[in-house]
Amino acid sequence: MAKKMRLTIKIGSNVLTRKDGSLDVTRMSALVDQSAWLRNEGHEVILVSSGAVASGRSELKHIQHDLDSVDQRQLFSAVGQAKLINRYFELFREYGIAVGQVLTMKENFNRSDHFQTQQNCMMVMLENNVIPIVNENDTVSVTELMFTDNDELAGLVTEMMNSEMLIILSNIDGIFSGDPSDGNAQL
Ligand code: GLU
Repeated sequence: MAKKMRLTIKIGSNVLTRKDGSLDVTRMSALVDQSAWLRNEGHEVILVSSGAVASGRSELKHIQHDLDSVDQRQLFSAVGQAKLINRYFELFREYGIAVGQVLTMKENFNRSDHFQTQQNCMMVMLENNVIPIVNENDTVSVTELMFTDNDELAGLVTEMMNSEMLIILSNIDGIFSGDPSDGNAQL
């Protein structure tokens, strides 16, 4: 990769968490090593990272079981996002690289004023050698307008930031015609 590129890398929850839902810090650390290497090669890196809900769920083992799914998502993401960004912050700091958190929502891509503010924020971060780590703001994105997963968010970020490449890290083999867990879906 001789040409210096702007890369958007999407890291899915399944990549970051172990079977019991806890954060897989070994894998996270390996991904940070590789992102730091890309940065040191002169590429600009933007991370779109899931994992907030999963890491919050594993942190709060004794929650009230009568919470509905929206309350649970809000509670887990509020705690889990803090844990997630803190881990990234500490891991990147070992390389002397600063990271910043960008939490967003689908409607921020539809309103031109929000779009421009968000784009400007991430441009300023890149210009100042700060790696943006983007996730959906799951604490307030609870309607039918929310992203189903971060693949769509990563695509919108790629377009908004004119990234030359989008890399999706996933435990799914590729693009399926339907839900991969459904036996009829074709790769
Ligand atoms: N924004 C969600 C999270 O961080 C994404 C869930 C997912 O699709 O992996 O937990």
